[in-house]
Amino acid sequence: MSDVVSYRCEAGVGLIVVDNPPVNALGHAVRQGLLEALNEGLADESARALVIMGAGRTFPAGADIREFGQTPKPPALPEVIDAIEASDKRVIAAVHGTALGGGMEITLGCDYRLALDSAKMGLPEVNLGLLPGAGGTQRLPRLIGAKAALEAIVEGKPIKAARLAEMGVVDVVVSGDLKTEAIAYAQRLIAEDAPRRPVSELSVATEEAAVFAEFEAIIARKKRGHLAPFHCIKAVKAATEMDFAAGMARERELFAELLDSPQSAALRHVFFAEREVARVPGLAKDTPQREIKRVAVLGAGTMGGGIAMNFLSAGIPVTLLENKQDALDRGVATMRRNYEASARKGRLTTEQVEANMGRLSTTLEYADLAEADLIIEAVFENMDVKKTVFGELDRVAKPGAILATNTSTLDVNEIAGATSRPSDVLGMHFFSPANVMKLLEVVRGERTADDVLATVMALARRIGKVGVAVGVCYGFVGNRMLHKRQAQAVALVNEGATPSQVDRVLYDFGLPMGPFAMADLAGLDVGWRIREGLRETDPANAPARNWMDALAEAGRFGQKTGGGVFDYSDGGRTPEPSETTAAEIDKYRAEQGITPREVSDEEIRERCLYVMINEGAKILEEGIAARPLDIDIVWIYGYGFPAYRGGPMFWADRLGLENVRERIKAFHEDTGDPDWQIAPLLEKLAGEGKGFADL
Ligand code: NAD
Repeated sequence: MSDVVSYRCEAGVGLIVVDNPPVNALGHAVRQGLLEALNEGLADESARALVIMGAGRTFPAGADIREFGQTPKPPALPEVIDAIEASDKRVIAAVHGTALGGGMEITLGCDYRLALDSAKMGLPEVNLGLLPGAGGTQRLPRLIGAKAALEAIVEGKPIKAARLAEMGVVDVVVSGDLKTEAIAYAQRLIAEDAPRRPVSELSVATEEAAVFAEFEAIIARKKRGHLAPFHCIKAVKAATEMDFAAGMARERELFAELLDSPQSAALRHVFFAEREVARVPGLAKDTPQREIKRVAVLGAGTMGGGIAMNFLSAGIPVTLLENKQDALDRGVATMRRNYEASARKGRLTTEQVEANMGRLSTTLEYADLAEADLIIEAVFENMDVKKTVFGELDRVAKPGAILATNTSTLDVNEIAGATSRPSDVLGMHFFSPANVMKLLEVVRGERTADDVLATVMALARRIGKVGVAVGVCYGFVGNRMLHKRQAQAVALVNEGATPSQVDRVLYDFGLPMGPFAMADLAGLDVGWRIREGLRETDPANAPARNWMDALAEAGRFGQKTGGGVFDYSDGGRTPEPSETTAAEIDKYRAEQGITPREVSDEEIRERCLYVMINEGAKILEEGIAARPLDIDIVWIYGYGFPAYRGGPMFWADRLGLENVRERIKAFHEDTGDPDWQIAPLLEKLAGEGKGFADL
């Protein structure tokens, strides 16, 4: 008898119980155990119906991911499910917790499905670059129709019991004790002599054929570049065109293609990296945390308002401080407008909008921050201003309060030095718009206390962010790499490319937008002011004036002024090539004596992306990021780097570091640009035939 699956008969009902903590994952022992228990139940004359359920917190919640990449030991899951479906007794799935992936596919092999009202089911394989490969793509459309099945399989999201009942997946939703309810339901089916209902014997309505093209069109933009969602559609389509056996063969074939694809490897890397990133190397798991019940935010500008919203939405009261009443009023009005926009889209109720705004208080007085457990500063990006603010905070904040700065470019250690308690200070670098973007770089200063870091890493999750611990340097991880890419993008245009060409190459690579559209979105004035500042304070090291400066000087700040590098007609957001920009570029080239040359797409791709890899290696070497996966997560969540490429460092390994090294060295030889000075770490790994994953 299996250790992880048991069989017993109670009141005429055979109970097959999976007990493989923590989530009853469908590893080899469970699959084997299920077959054995099923056979026992079928042979048991006292059982007239069988129930499959999970012990502990859930119905089987999916495959055992530890078995990924290994040749599966038989029985494979489809075989187990086929056996369930072929049994000559009625089989009922009794679901609680989360029946995901293979777990949900087991329920589809049963004749009837009962779920606790708190249960969820889903087929999330698409998120790992796969498709449900144990009959899910063939049975679900037979059960609920192709359209609903496509939504479930291509979206990959868990679905609540009530909705599952509406869709026709679940037959009954119950509350109370799962086993009691399941036995009662089975007895009822026995009493009614309810028929067996193998899903594979149902047919799908053929008039739904047009659904597929429509569905592809709907997801074309959102899933651009992804292989798995489109394979899912093909598999569901097969269910409508072929008999069950042929459809299963097609599902297998499509599944195998995905399993072998670099995309799935990348998405699985991201899946593990997302979990791993919360564990900061060197920070003990049992590091105590400070209690955060009240937050204060300084500055109600672009960032401050969005930052405050994160906490309000998570139920945490916020005090917002400004130095001017009108700025405060403007900031609060913007927050309300954003919440109301979400309500109009149906993402919030009007009650929630009021509850969130009700948790906000405002002030012009530092004394009102005395109760805050965490204070986040988002005032002007100027060291003197920041130091003054932190001096004030030091005076009013209660002992043990965490003091955070949202600075993008300033030295967090220097800011911490403006207080008498640098161990309570760290950076919380949010991304714009701060209420939307999932990334939070948690910047650990030289003297930041462990419990401060641990508290903020945990808090990130509480407010729905992905926190990545990083060290202090100019631009931290994300922007430091971005600046290097931006410099290449500008240089490529100087040499002969057009901004549209550069943007197209990076868009086609899978990024949500190119570097110039991104600059227009952020505002060309931001970089221009920084460069102008440097030209005043440090002229020897300041960058030379170029066509981007000329655009900013002419008031072309980007989307917000209707034009920047690109034109945006009628206040729109679609970048269009600009004649003004082309003229500025020509002028600049003429001044510099540059004869423009043809620049290939490949050169653009290599220069913009390899320079990031090189910088990433330097970041690792300096310990600014602890692991390559931290950099990958920063880029996926902060900048929309395509998850199906796994992040820049994972992608570099795919290319082969020897190849990357050769190109970096060639660019260095050609240009002498210090950004192409190869990172010793990259050189070393490439020399050893290794990748970043081997670190
Ligand atoms: P912003 O100019 O939109 O807002 C700053 C606000 O701070 C203004 O409303 C101003 O009135 C207020 N303020 C200035 N001095 C103050 C003081 N002494 N006390 C109280 N309030 C004061 O600027 P922003 O874009 O929100 O940037 C704020 C910070 O966030 C900067 O450090 C910036 O580098 C950082 N940041 C910005 C972005 C971005 O994309 N905008 C992204 C990440 C981080």
